[in-house]
Amino acid sequence: MKDCLFCKIAAGEMDTDFVYEDEKVVVFEDINPQAPVHLLIVPKRHISDLNSLKPEAGDLIGHVYQIAKKMAAKFKIAESGYRLVSNCGDNGGQTVYHIHFHLLGGRELQWPPG
Ligand code: AMP
Ligand code: ZN
Repeated sequence: MKDCLFCKIAAGEMDTDFVYEDEKVVVFEDINPQAPVHLLIVPKRHISDLNSLKPEAGDLIGHVYQIAKKMAAKFKIAESGYRLVSNCGDNGGQTVYHIHFHLLGGRELQWPPG
């Protein structure tokens, strides 16, 4: 989608280094990390937010979770623990309207979130 930051990043137009890429997703480090490990798992296909997610995207989301597990192992936070978060809408704190999943770890995270 034109003028979507994460579409541009996923298309390789922003010089972002990917820590992982396959036919469905890219993974890169968040520019403003909130934890020692803070990765963004971003589907290549443009879906603006969770509210727009169709049932057919079930396989894609399952894939995102498999990649999250793989990245947690790669970044050595699988044993210590981590969080996978997708913010939706204004109250959820979403700022980029291309669906994505934050993988956070490397420190003890607070619950409930602020
Ligand atoms: P959210 O606020 O949940 O929509 O998440 C968007 C995330 O994208 C934020 O954590 C930002 O720090 C991050 N972000 C914005 N621009 C970039 C960029 N160019 N490269 C990496 N991360 C980015
Ligand atoms: Zn997009």
